Amino acid sequence: MAGSFGKIIVGVYVEIKRSDGRIHQAMVTSLNEDNESVTVEWIENGDTKGKEIDLESIFALNPDVAPEEETAPSPETPPPPTPTSVKVNKIPKNRRTIAPAKNDTPSRDNRVVSTRARPAQPQQLEPAPPPPIQQPAQPTQAQTAQQLANEASMHQLTRKEFGQLSRRKSNCVKEVEKLQEKRERRRIQQQELREKKAQEVDTTVPNYEILYMIRDFRASLDYRPLSTADLIEEHRICVCVRKRPLNKKELTIRDLDVITIPSKDVVMVHEPKQKVDLTRYLENQTFRFDYAFDDSTTNEMVYRFTARPLVETIFERGMATCFAYGQTGSGKTHTMGGDFSGKNQDCSKGIYALAARDVFVMLKKPCYRKLDLQVYATFFEIYSGKVFDLLNGKAKLRVLEDGKQQVQVVGLHERDVKCTEDVLKLIEVGNSCRTSGQTSANAHSSRSHAVFQIILRRKGKMHGKFSLIDLAGNERGADTSSADRQTRLEGAEINKSLLALKECIRALGRNKPHTPFRASKLTQVLRDSFIGENSRTCMIATISPGMTSCENTLNTLRYANRVKELTVDPNQVIEGVRPNTHVVDQLDDDWDHLGSSPQRDDLKLLCEQNLEEVSPQLLTFHEAVSQMVEMEEQVLEDHRAVFQESIRWLEDEKVLLEMTEEVDYDVDSYATQLEQILDQKIDILTELRDKVKSFRSSLQEEEQASKQINPKRPRALL
Ligand code: ADP
Ligand code: MG
Repeated sequence: MAGSFGKIIVGVYVEIKRSDGRIHQAMVTSLNEDNESVTVEWIENGDTKGKEIDLESIFALNPDVAPEEETAPSPETPPPPTPTSVKVNKIPKNRRTIAPAKNDTPSRDNRVVSTRARPAQPQQLEPAPPPPIQQPAQPTQAQTAQQLANEASMHQLTRKEFGQLSRRKSNCVKEVEKLQEKRERRRIQQQELREKKAQEVDTTVPNYEILYMIRDFRASLDYRPLSTADLIEEHRICVCVRKRPLNKKELTIRDLDVITIPSKDVVMVHEPKQKVDLTRYLENQTFRFDYAFDDSTTNEMVYRFTARPLVETIFERGMATCFAYGQTGSGKTHTMGGDFSGKNQDCSKGIYALAARDVFVMLKKPCYRKLDLQVYATFFEIYSGKVFDLLNGKAKLRVLEDGKQQVQVVGLHERDVKCTEDVLKLIEVGNSCRTSGQTSANAHSSRSHAVFQIILRRKGKMHGKFSLIDLAGNERGADTSSADRQTRLEGAEINKSLLALKECIRALGRNKPHTPFRASKLTQVLRDSFIGENSRTCMIATISPGMTSCENTLNTLRYANRVKELTVDPNQVIEGVRPNTHVVDQLDDDWDHLGSSPQRDDLKLLCEQNLEEVSPQLLTFHEAVSQMVEMEEQVLEDHRAVFQESIRWLEDEKVLLEMTEEVDYDVDSYATQLEQILDQKIDILTELRDKVKSFRSSLQEEEQASKQINPKRPRALL
C-alpha cells in the first residue's frame, strides 16, 4: 500500500528479484519515503551491491512484511513491531551500546548471505577488513538490525532520521557482514572437512572407536602449551611430567596416543574402558604438576624449567637433586643423558651436560669466581642395593655411615673437570662402562639407578653438590614375585628405593626431622641432599604416550602426584595420624621378633608411611630380603676371614710338619700344637657353617615370602 512501509525497517532481510530472474535475500538499508521505495544491499562475489526497489515489488515477494492496515506513524510513534522474519532478542532499554555477542561463532541462521545467493566459488571472497576498534566482538546480523531498531526506538526517531541513521550505519554493517561471511565460510569448510573425515573412518586401525573419541575430545580443547615466555618459578620441590612422541615400534603396531597435554601444567590420560554391555568409552583423568612438557618439547626446554634453576643452588652452598622417573622406554635416559641416535648418544643434549655447561658459566661470574671453587664429577650406579663406580671399571664400592650419620661411598672416584668437554668425556666413559657386556642399553639400565654428580669444593671442602639421577624403570618394582631370585631381589630393591625416595622428598618438603633414608641404598647415598635448609629437588616423570603403556603411565603419574601433593598444601599433612593403626601395632609385634638395625628400622618406618601401598605380604617379603641381605654380608665377611685364617693355619702346619722331620723332635709339643690348631679350625668352621645354615634358611624364607605376594599388588603401588 502506498505510504506505508508495513513491517519493513532498516536491517530487515527481504527477498528480492534480480533482473536476471534470480531471487535472493538482501538487507534493507534505507526507507525512501519520497518515492516509496527501499534501498537494499547484499554481498555478491565478495562485493557489496545495492539496489532501490519499489515497495510494491517488495510486498509482492514478501507478503509477511506488507502492512495490515494503513497507519502513518507520527514522529512520536515508536518504530513498527519486530518483523517476524528477523529474530530479535529484547535488549534492556538502558543499554545504549550493543553488547558483544557471547558466542562469536555464528550459527547457520546468522549467515549474511543466504545459501541460494551464496557464490559458488569461495575463492572469490575477499578478506574482510578489520573490525572497528570500538567493537570488541562482532554482533550478528540479527543483533545489528536489532541495535538499529532499538536505537531508533530509544531516540523516538522520525522515519527520515531513521533513514539517515541507517545510512551512517550501513558502512559498519557492511564490514560486519563481510567478517561474518568470512567466518561462516570457514565454519562451513571445517564442518565439511569434519564430515569428510568422519566418512573416512579407517576401521582397520586397532581401537579406531577410541581413536575417534580421543580426536573429538581433543578438538574441543583449547591448547596453551608451555613456551619460553612462561615464568620459571622457584620451587623447593618441583615435579613435572614429560611425554615422549610415539616411537617406531608403537607406530608399527599402530598404538594410539592416549596422552594430551593441553596446557603448561596439565596432563590428561584417556583411558579406554568397557561397559558391561561391551560398549567402549574413555575415562579421562586429569593431573596437574608444576610443568607438563608435551612430545614436541626439547631437552633444552625441559632443562630450562627443571634443572637449570638448581644450578644456582649449589653455588649458594646448597644440595640439589634432579630425578628422571618412569617406566623403561619412557625417555629417562633421553632426558638425562641425551638423545640416542642409533647406538651413539648425543650426550651434549642431555641434562647432565646442560647442567655442567651452566656450572662452568656460573663459575666465571665475579661473585663466584672469587670463591675459588673446584669442580669434580662422579658417576656411579646402584644395582640391587650395591654401588658400582662407572668411572673406575665398575668397581664395587662399600657405603659406610659414621657415628654422625655421614654417609660415605668408600673409594668413589671424583674426577677433576675443567670444562664442559671434560664432563662430556666422563659421561661417555661412564655410559660405555654401564652398558658394556649388555645385550641392550635398556636391559641393564632398567634395573639400576645411575647417579651423575657435579661437586663444588672450596679448598677441598664440600661447597655444593648437584646429583642427577636416571632411575631404574619403575615397572621393575613389580618384579618382587618373579620366579627368579636375582630378578626378585632387584625388584625388591627398586620397589623399596622408589618408595623411600618419595618419602625422602616429601620429608624435605615438610622439613621433617626423620626420613627413612636408610631403607634403600639410593636414599642412603643421597642422604645429605635430602636434609638441610638449602636443599632443592626436581622430579621429571617421563611417560610413554601409547595406549599399551596406559597402566604404567597412570602409575607414574600417581606416584609423581603423591610426591607433589604434600608440597602443594603443607598444612594438609597431619603428622603421625595413620588410617590403619591396628595394622601398625600388629606389624610392630612381628618386627620386634626380628631384632632391629638402622636399615630395618627405616624399612619399617617406610612401610608404615605407605600402608595403603605396601601390602602386609610385601612388607614381610621386604623384611625377609633385608634379613637375607644382611646375612649374606655377614657370611661373606666371615668366609673371607676364615680364608685368611686358613692361610695362616697352612703356614703353621707346614712348620709343625717340618719339625717332625728332625730326628729328636718333641712329640708332646707336636701333639699339643696340632690339637690347638684343629680345635681352632673346628670352632671357626663350625661358626661359619652355622651362619651358612641360617643364611640358607633366610634364603628359603625370602622365597616363601615372595610366593605370598599378590603379583598385582606391587604394580599398583608405583
Ligand atoms: P628410558 O631411559 O626411560 O628407558 P629412553 O630414554 O632410552 O628410555 O627412551 C626410549 C626411546 O625413546 C629411545 O629410543 C629414545 O631415543 C626415545 N625417546 C625418548 N624420549 C624422547 C623424546 N622426548 N623425543 C624423541 N625420542 C625420545
Ligand atoms: Mg634408560
